[in-house]
Amino acid sequence: MALIVQKFGGTSVASTERIKNVARRVARWKAQGHDIIVVPSAMSGETNRLLGLAREISENADPRELDVIASTGEQVTIGLLAMAIQEQGYKAKSYTGSQVRVLTDSTFTKARILKIDDERIRADLDQGYVVVVAGFQGADADGNITTLGRGGSDTSAVALAAALNADECQIYTDVDGVYTTDPRIVPEARKLDTITFEEMLEMASLGSKVLQIRSVEFAGKYKVKLRVLSSFEDEGEGTLITVEENKPMEQPIISGIAFARDEAKLTVLGVPDRPGIAYQILGPVADAKIDVDMIIQNVGHDGTTDFSFTVARADYNKTLGVLESVKAHIGAREIVGDKHICKVSAVGVGMRSHPGVASSMFRALAEEGINIKMISTSEIKISVVIDEKYLELAVRTLHKVFGLDKED
Ligand code: ADP
Ligand code: ASP
Ligand code: MG
Repeated sequence: MALIVQKFGGTSVASTERIKNVARRVARWKAQGHDIIVVPSAMSGETNRLLGLAREISENADPRELDVIASTGEQVTIGLLAMAIQEQGYKAKSYTGSQVRVLTDSTFTKARILKIDDERIRADLDQGYVVVVAGFQGADADGNITTLGRGGSDTSAVALAAALNADECQIYTDVDGVYTTDPRIVPEARKLDTITFEEMLEMASLGSKVLQIRSVEFAGKYKVKLRVLSSFEDEGEGTLITVEENKPMEQPIISGIAFARDEAKLTVLGVPDRPGIAYQILGPVADAKIDVDMIIQNVGHDGTTDFSFTVARADYNKTLGVLESVKAHIGAREIVGDKHICKVSAVGVGMRSHPGVASSMFRALAEEGINIKMISTSEIKISVVIDEKYLELAVRTLHKVFGLDKED
């Protein structure tokens, strides 16, 4: 008998019919004698709808109130799912994040989990209940409702698995595992039986939304056995996220291609080339709680230099405002931006022992006439910023060039 945490994403609970299907799946595991904690997301589209309502009231919404609103999506699905499991003949009880309690910090809309009380859940499990816990939400030390950032139910599930020392955390979604790239963009993408934590962390942080990055961090840190599976198919082992690099010799050097659509680039032109300039530009950006991704400073010329960086597209206008407000102070000539860029990355632990991956990538993009605007590398990834209109072409090209297309 094992303790298993099962997370079901939005499409898996998109209708009452699908919720009944989830309940049937949970009942099958329960019938085998396992203890089950279920973590559903909101019904698909619901979080967007709720945040849309908020935007109709205020363009500059109070993050605390946004969390009060957004968290209601999951409150509906936990109740429905608990009832559906009861209909299957099992005892079930639902809890919101603050009832459990999932203690987070107070960073509304992207809070971090600090601690989970396991007492109530353990007591219920001991009495034979299936425990249904709302994903995506918690409460801070003052009892304010918080949410964990988009896609945050993955993290709720893994954190619960860690707190309760579960035997496995299963992430059920609308694809049957982690693929070499998003199978919706590249039909030739292959499902991976295993992927290392390190690679999954890169894939998630570079835009593959199949798992929220914090869920992968948590699973790595607390040694949670994490598996991604289809909620629509009964067969299949999905993809196991593994610690070891136990790959066969002929495994490709690149394990996957990740991409992020909603990026934007800003350039501060003609700033004095002197110590402290990067801090003077990025300090105010950080103070405004804007996450900066890639950064490039050009070689100085005539005592001045250009400084470029990327941010999430949603933060573009705010960043532009910050830069305009410091422009005179830092002595910059001009501020320009580009909202129509995206980031495409090749990821693979095999890169460590194989030089030349970057040049293969750049050649492949050049042959398709795709101009690279920025480049960034780490030991196991190479990312390029390109025009968003080339996203699909670039992802397909790299997927093929690195030998990832499935053979039919
Ligand atoms: P859920 O609602 O279940 O949390 P998400 O939409 O958040 O589901 O994540 C699943 C989606 O992630 C898939 O439908 C797929 O389009 C996308 N995706 C992106 N990259 C990958 C990848 N490498 N492997 C599998 N799916 C991916
Ligand atoms: N419902 C939340 C969202 O849409 C959390 C999740 O689905 O994981 O982002
Ligand atoms: Mg998700």
